[in-house]
Amino acid sequence: MLTTLRRIVQDVGAAATFQQALDVIVHDVREALGTEVCSVYLRSPEGDRYLFVATEGLNQDAVGRLSLELNQGLVTLVAERAEPINLEDATSHPRFHAIPEIGEEPFNSFLGVPVIHHRDVLGVLVVQQREKRRFDESEEAFLVTLSAQLAVAIAHSQATGDIRKLFDTISGRETVATDTMFRGVAGSPGICIGTAVVMQPAANLEAVPEREAEDTLVELIVLDRAVEAVREDIRRIGQDFATSLPPEELALFDAYLHMLDDNALAGDMRDRVRRGQWAQGALKQVIREHVRRFEAMEDPYLRERGADVKDLGLRVLAYLQDIRQRKIHFPDDTVLVGDEVTPSMLANIPAGKLKGIVSVRGSGNSHVAILARALDVPAVMGAVDLPIVELEGKALIIDGFYGEVFLNPSSKLADSYDSLILEEREFSRELEDLKELPAVTLDGYRTLLWVNIGLPGDIYRSLDRGAEGIGLFRTEVPFMTQDRFPSEEEQRLLYREHMEAFEPRQVTMRTLDIGGDKALSYFPITEDNPFLGWRGIRVTLDHPEIFMVQARAMVKANAGLRGLLRIMLPMVSNVDELEEAKALVHRAYIEVLEEGVQVKEPQVGVMVEVPAAVYQARDLARRVDFLAVGSNDLTQYMLAVDRNNPRVAGLYQETHPAVLMALREVARAAHMEKTDIGICGELAGTPVGAVLLMAMGYQVLSMNATNLPKVKWVIRNIRQRDARRMLARVLRMSTEAEVQNFMRNQLVKAGLGRVVPSYHA
Ligand code: PEP
Ligand code: MG
Repeated sequence: MLTTLRRIVQDVGAAATFQQALDVIVHDVREALGTEVCSVYLRSPEGDRYLFVATEGLNQDAVGRLSLELNQGLVTLVAERAEPINLEDATSHPRFHAIPEIGEEPFNSFLGVPVIHHRDVLGVLVVQQREKRRFDESEEAFLVTLSAQLAVAIAHSQATGDIRKLFDTISGRETVATDTMFRGVAGSPGICIGTAVVMQPAANLEAVPEREAEDTLVELIVLDRAVEAVREDIRRIGQDFATSLPPEELALFDAYLHMLDDNALAGDMRDRVRRGQWAQGALKQVIREHVRRFEAMEDPYLRERGADVKDLGLRVLAYLQDIRQRKIHFPDDTVLVGDEVTPSMLANIPAGKLKGIVSVRGSGNSHVAILARALDVPAVMGAVDLPIVELEGKALIIDGFYGEVFLNPSSKLADSYDSLILEEREFSRELEDLKELPAVTLDGYRTLLWVNIGLPGDIYRSLDRGAEGIGLFRTEVPFMTQDRFPSEEEQRLLYREHMEAFEPRQVTMRTLDIGGDKALSYFPITEDNPFLGWRGIRVTLDHPEIFMVQARAMVKANAGLRGLLRIMLPMVSNVDELEEAKALVHRAYIEVLEEGVQVKEPQVGVMVEVPAAVYQARDLARRVDFLAVGSNDLTQYMLAVDRNNPRVAGLYQETHPAVLMALREVARAAHMEKTDIGICGELAGTPVGAVLLMAMGYQVLSMNATNLPKVKWVIRNIRQRDARRMLARVLRMSTEAEVQNFMRNQLVKAGLGRVVPSYHA
């Protein structure tokens, strides 16, 4: 069963057009279940009817002509109920509706299964038989399983406009290919209009865009060089194994070399290039075809050879991309698009050219989104339906406030977004005047606005926007760009640069927070559940040598400066971890003194970012100089929602009532213990979050430099008394939507509507 399911899903995925995919479904399902009829009905884009789009066994002439009103027939009943309907004799069901032109009369039994994606019924899959019998349980289970898998492909076609095109073709309308909108989640606020540059992770064949060769001759040369480089690699590997492998295994390397011959893969690829494809596109097409051919073979040995072809394809691609990567052209209005945009990709783009980011994977709290906010570049994350292979060079609008991407925008839409961009710019200019002013409410309540930092360029950006201290230095960021752990002196110099720039302001250095989604190439951690695994303080306590080098570098870097050094510990989930880490920091301080460097003992604080730390906040507060809430992780762990997973991004709610209650409890615990309390999660940088946190008594709000001026503007234009009144109301609410709506209305009423964009329907 599983093999058949897989094969059908693969065949559907490999179909060249959407109509072909539908035809494959009805053909394969009919064959797999041995039924007489299989048909597909799809919901219209307007949701007002179900169209008969493919069949085997019923009247082909009715395909594309016949559609059902919402309450007409059994098919729409399946959709209405959103569950399978399995009938021995369909004609005796009260909802049966005879449609003569479809040719159903001879068929008595009926099994209809809805195609559902994210709770949305997209269509119905139907099988029918002459014989009066109920389809058995295994047949029903098969169809339900298959339909759940096909739902993803159908949803994708809906998002890319294929379904609209199908309906338009059928009804003789012309599809206007502008303003196609793809939904993701808000990654970094702001709007931009720019040109897509698709960047692929190393060697991913499926992500290769298809495009015409600019210069066929160049593409042929590049292709030959890449193929020859792979042949050379294979020869070398073969020689390396010459004495250790038996001859029959060694023969595999010869087989690989043959596959790359001119009369096999390489010849096919060259043909495609000569016909106009660029080398990577030709490679993708040829490999895809050969893999498909192998995978369709009955012989299991030959089927496996498909994997070898794929592997060879990836090797050639790696060389092609290596050759190309160096000459990638970034226009001045680059919108970086990728399946998974990574922080290192950002580093490849020349300064000033990056205007926007779109990533198919990830969510608003992925680290690349955090970096985008720090860089003040709008970003949309988790745009899962985006057809990235078709986007290269296309015009895009990125709306980072609402998480939307528009492909091929009409000039009308571009004009309206242009005026929003101008408004934003104008507002930013006004905010510049606040730079030297404190964040004091209208009734005189003072809050400290600090910055989260870690990227090169952050020092200038932060001071330029009036940062009053560093609330979080993500020390792992500079570690990520190295190929080994930086030495104590290298670290000292980097930390010193920041401390001197911020002198005499306070600087909070977080000890290395690797693990989760933050990997070091030279210290790989592979785990099934990385966010619940070896992360943050857990890693550094197991490696005191790494911790000590870092702590000593921090303490030394502060020598002779007036600015207070605060060392902050990430991912603490019990008091023992805190005590151990404190002892190490103290030892580092004593060692530095013993080396004759005159330094002050640093303050030590703990991040509250796992639920256990919320409940033990008083215990922790008693033992440290400050608490700082890491609301990004705290939200993830309290709500059991992976901060990187776009599928559950809608459940990642920073102002979920449970999260707000936890935040209030932590603040109370700190107040009771007279311990300083701050927050450095992204919530602090949002207008709604900042107002509520200030009302809870958070003394330090630490955020990315980009958001700081807006937050300051809000605080300077509100009364703390009013903020507390809002908090009291909010704490009685049961859903995040209530909280957000209420707070947005309050901000608008207080004349602060400019920070809560409202152009959206
Ligand atoms: C947090 O979890 O809120 C935090 C500030 O740390 P990071 O985002 O680096 O995990
Ligand atoms: Mg964290």
